[in-house]
Amino acid sequence: MAQNSLIVRILEADYRRVLQHLFPGDNDEHGTILICGVCRSDRGTRLLVRRAVIAAEAVDFVESRRGYREFSARFVAKWATYCARHGLAYLAVHNHGSDERVDFSRNDLESHARAYPSLQGLIKGKPVGALVFGRRSAAGRVLIDGKFQEMAKMTVVGSRVLDLYSHPAKRPKGLDDGMYDRQFRLFGNAGQAILQGLKVGFIGLGGGGSLLNEWISRLGVGQTVPVDPDIIKKHNRPRIVGSLISDVRTKRPKVEVAKRVAKQANPGINCEPIFDDVVFEDVAARLRDCDAIFLAGDTYASRQVFNRVVHQYLIPGFHVGARVAVDEETGAVTSVRSEYRVVMPNAKGGCLDCCGLVPQEKLRLETLSDDQKRAQDYLGVEALDELAEPSVITLNVLSGAQAVNDFLMMFTGLFDGSVKLYSQRHELTTRRLYTVGHISRSKCPVCSGTEVSALAMGDEVRLPCKIRPIQERPLRARAR
Ligand SMILES: [Zn+2]
Ligand SMILES: [Zn+2]
Repeated sequence: MAQNSLIVRILEADYRRVLQHLFPGDNDEHGTILICGVCRSDRGTRLLVRRAVIAAEAVDFVESRRGYREFSARFVAKWATYCARHGLAYLAVHNHGSDERVDFSRNDLESHARAYPSLQGLIKGKPVGALVFGRRSAAGRVLIDGKFQEMAKMTVVGSRVLDLYSHPAKRPKGLDDGMYDRQFRLFGNAGQAILQGLKVGFIGLGGGGSLLNEWISRLGVGQTVPVDPDIIKKHNRPRIVGSLISDVRTKRPKVEVAKRVAKQANPGINCEPIFDDVVFEDVAARLRDCDAIFLAGDTYASRQVFNRVVHQYLIPGFHVGARVAVDEETGAVTSVRSEYRVVMPNAKGGCLDCCGLVPQEKLRLETLSDDQKRAQDYLGVEALDELAEPSVITLNVLSGAQAVNDFLMMFTGLFDGSVKLYSQRHELTTRRLYTVGHISRSKCPVCSGTEVSALAMGDEVRLPCKIRPIQERPLRARAR
């Protein structure tokens, strides 16, 4: 996808609802308004559908004096005011009767030029525009900073991530490279082109993350962003793919080893390592325009940031981890687990907050300074249970391989339509595999889509990040 492209992202359930309204079988024209969060990065602009408002026939979507149908002035004013109040973008959607290709009519274009500049003023400069749907196509024109921009594609985010274009020829061309011959045979060179067009983020490049990084790179994903603040230590060596004895000696960052592994797997990959912690805002911001994010980090703060990025920017997330529980008294191993969760930004999608995996007390303990932590320990309060946990590389393989296979099925469209992306837990000492259902709270501030939630809010609300200590800020030239 070209830089500075315009992409609209919509959840599968919303897309289906809109499609049902637009194409009820009457071959007529219908309308919907999409209220969207905005994400702007150096990859371009993403509009994230937060709410799809169906326009009632003959009330909100009425006969037009100039064209055929239009939204009623009352309906437009109501939702434009709503956008202005919440800092959201406004997209008017209607349909044409076509199938695989769709374009705006001259009437459509004239009405955009007439209406949108003043509407943009009303919604405080946020993007405003129109989409037109065919049965299996979508075109869009959006006024961004006073200039109309064409939508490159619309991405439907669900168990099968589907890209919709205005025209079959606009789909990315397949690659003709012998290297991926065996993969072509599985998902076609169109599937390979999809992988090539993706940007994937990794939080945590320890044991689990290093495996994910290698596999994703070998699959031919075009762009990756590994994030980790740690260097390779001697005790990491048995678990980190591609780590060398010399990396320990030279105190090489884990993300640099990840980049070396990625380049060996695919010399054409664009790997941008970040040797820093995702809990800082400028680091987390680099993940906002990813197409998928893998979390293999071990702090509660990184879980919290990951969960918010997934929901706020409508990005499928994959959380992998391994856990060995040890009896505190005897030191005996009580359970050996490999855990895996898909975190989708939809209802019951596996929100980590709803599933109780970002407990406030643990977050608080984690943010205490080391001295305070020692004091807490002295007082007998349960401190962090991470750091020196037992682990071996093969535990990470189980959850990691399932995560990358799910990623692959999702993006190449190979998932069965009825698949349920529940969490999984392998208990290795009993050789049992458990499926874990998802909980979702109706008023969750992350995933619920209620007024206060961050769902699809994009850049409009801040991520739950830490303030970087002053001495760690990059030095700037001081004023003389
Ligand atoms: Zn039209
Ligand atoms: Zn939630």
